[in-house]
Amino acid sequence: MTVRTRFAPSPTGVLHLGSVRTALFCWLYARRHEGDFILRIEDTDRERSTPENVAAILDGLEWLGLDADEGPFYQTERFDRYREVLNEWLETGKAYYCYCTKEELAELRERQMQAGERVRYDGRWRDRTEPREGVDPVIRFKNPLDGEVVVEDLVRGRVVFENAQLDDLIIARSDGTPTYNFTVIVDDYDMQITHVIRGDDHLNNTPRQMNMLAALGAEPPVYAHLPMILGPDGAKLSKRHGAVDIREYREEGYLPEAMLNYLVRLGWSHGDQEIFSLDEMIRLFDLADVNQSASAFNPEKLVWINQQHILAMSPEAIAPQLMPFLVQVGLDPSDGPDPVHIAEGFHERAETLLHMAASARYCYEDFETIEPKSAKKHLRPVILEPLKTVRARLAALEHWGESAISEAVRDVAEDYDLSLGKLGQPIRVAVTGGPVSPSIDVTLRLVGRERTLARLDRAIELVKERAGAA
Ligand code: GLU
Repeated sequence: MTVRTRFAPSPTGVLHLGSVRTALFCWLYARRHEGDFILRIEDTDRERSTPENVAAILDGLEWLGLDADEGPFYQTERFDRYREVLNEWLETGKAYYCYCTKEELAELRERQMQAGERVRYDGRWRDRTEPREGVDPVIRFKNPLDGEVVVEDLVRGRVVFENAQLDDLIIARSDGTPTYNFTVIVDDYDMQITHVIRGDDHLNNTPRQMNMLAALGAEPPVYAHLPMILGPDGAKLSKRHGAVDIREYREEGYLPEAMLNYLVRLGWSHGDQEIFSLDEMIRLFDLADVNQSASAFNPEKLVWINQQHILAMSPEAIAPQLMPFLVQVGLDPSDGPDPVHIAEGFHERAETLLHMAASARYCYEDFETIEPKSAKKHLRPVILEPLKTVRARLAALEHWGESAISEAVRDVAEDYDLSLGKLGQPIRVAVTGGPVSPSIDVTLRLVGRERTLARLDRAIELVKERAGAA
């Protein structure tokens, strides 16, 4: 049997962390078993579904590399097929028209509530066939009246539902449009889905869906209901916690592999391993290792995982991804060092590609002023002569390379009997405007000879002014 999973988002919203986690588990399971991953857009809620949301979903999945083998299929293009099944079920008595009015249903509800009973449709049109003037009927599925529905869920284990607790579900509204649970099962059946992997907010729909699949003459798929994702405060993950459009993480410079790595650990584990390459995820992922309890979204851990993935990448691989971020922070990558060298120099500290681009600003652009605190601490009169000497030594270098730069700095430090740090930090502050940068040789090479010398000149002037003022 070929494994066939599907991701079936409703475009009533964008793609966020929770939906991506579902998509990822479906995709991984299909890839792991060399099966197919199907993308289905459940857009029957025409009022709340928008083309922008569809675009956001497709774009987000593409960025993450969660490629579909089939689809996207759109439910709104399948109305004829749903109508066909509805007609067949009406003819064979598997479904029926219900002519209840709103008032009657309200009255039923009221009565059940007062009697302390569970609110449910009482099946009063189940065995009636005569139409009723002036009422547009809904269509209801004839749910079995007794017996049990057993869900052997791969995550939740065995979950048993009593048919007596389920009422006859509306499968088409009075305007004839099919409803959610019904379209899902027609599609899961037609698309030959073998594994339904989705959020556990759908677990209560499962017995109804299994009954309807049985009415189609289909074997139910295997189900796996994934535990909820909570916010760091323990409440259901919401916008406030970062349940935003997944593409915002792209904008902030997270790597797609890091997002997937972070999300795969929300509910799944493989020993205590935290960092996974995509290949490892595919090789190791199993639904049997998904745990039942909800997991919490932790933004700091996401940053850490992103950092680990940046660290594991070669500068050549980072550079093309870094380019758009350099532009985004307003830099001109053609007027400064090759981004490969930036990646090489900065990848150890960078939390995100945006962070890397922003930290590299001084390599491409002059800064207005030196950070006052650093200036005060490191650009003191005692450093005037060593700075001037370093400036002269650097100006005389034949080749602007790391070893020549570090040799020059080391020599001057020795001449003045200074530790490397005592000289290095003033140089750093002079050339970058602040106290943090890669090693001095790397920093100066990236900044380039011309800018380095000009900035040293400026710092020397500053030190002179301060010496004069003292
Ligand atoms: N369209 C549903 C949703 O976005 C998913 C349905 C399913 O996976 O069965 O929640």
